[in-house]
Formats: sequence, structure tokens, C-alpha cells
Amino acid sequence: MTALWGQGQRSEWRDRLTPEQLVELEEREAPRIAAGRARRESKRQARRDDHELDQLVAYAVRATDVEQRRAQKYVDNHKLCGGRTRKDGSPCRSVAIRPNGRCKWHGGLSTGPKTEEGKQRCREATQRTWAAWRAAGSPKRTYNRSPEWRANITAANRRRALMRRLAA
Ligand SMILES: [Zn+2]
Repeated sequence: MTALWGQGQRSEWRDRLTPEQLVELEEREAPRIAAGRARRESKRQARRDDHELDQLVAYAVRATDVEQRRAQKYVDNHKLCGGRTRKDGSPCRSVAIRPNGRCKWHGGLSTGPKTEEGKQRCREATQRTWAAWRAAGSPKRTYNRSPEWRANITAANRRRALMRRLAA
């Protein structure tokens, strides 16, 4: 009976029926009730499945995202040099460690001016630098020195600059 009517519900209604009528009613209504229960349960299950699928999709998207970011990070962190090897001219496969994207062997310092004009400009700049140094009284360096030593050198530099100005 509890399958048909909840305990305590419509009890006066149920009490008015004879036991035979109740059995008959239950037998007649049982399939309908079961069908309704199954329908509701299937809906609930469908919602659960939908939710599970959503979760799975979200997880997959997140995983792909993480995977892609990790791969990109690897590419960023382990960019290859790509310079030409002296051995056979094939691309260098060393990891690029310099800011210019080359490895420790490729893409180093400048090898200097090539044209005559550039060489001349370089020469003049060097000469200008030394001339300026001499004009300043040929001061000795004070960096990378202990404080006392630096004081001595500074005094000597000043003295030399003064003598130079007096001589001029
Ligand atoms: Zn290289």
C-alpha cells in the first residue's frame, strides 16, 4: 500500500475502500506509477550525465590548455640557436642562451668595422678617447680599489691634472 499512498496520506480515502478494492487499485495503478518514477529518474540521470559530460569537457579543455602552455613554455625556454655550423653548414641545434637567440658559440661579439671608412672612424674615435684622457691629466683608475688606495690615486690624479694645467 505504501507504494500507492504515502503513509498517513489520504488515509480516510483509503479507509473507505475494501481491501479487495485497494489491491485491485494498486494493481491497476502500479505500472503508471512505476512509469512516472522511471521517467523522473531517467530525467535526473540525464541531468547527471549532462553535468558529468560538462565536467569532462571542462577538464579536457583545461588539460589541453595546460598542455599547450607547457609546450609553449618549453619552446620559449629551449629555443634552438639555428646558426650555421662551421662543420657542414647545418642549423645549430644547441639551446639558445644569448639575448640575440643564438647559442654560446654563435652570435658573439662584433668582429669590428669592415669598410675603410668604418675603420678610419673607429681609429679616430680611439684617438679622441685617448686624447681626452691625456687632456684630463692621464688619470689612473680608481674603481676596483680599496678606499685608502682610491684616496691616494684620486689625490695623485688631482695633482697631475693641476701640474698639467699649470704647464699649459
Ligand atoms: Zn649555435
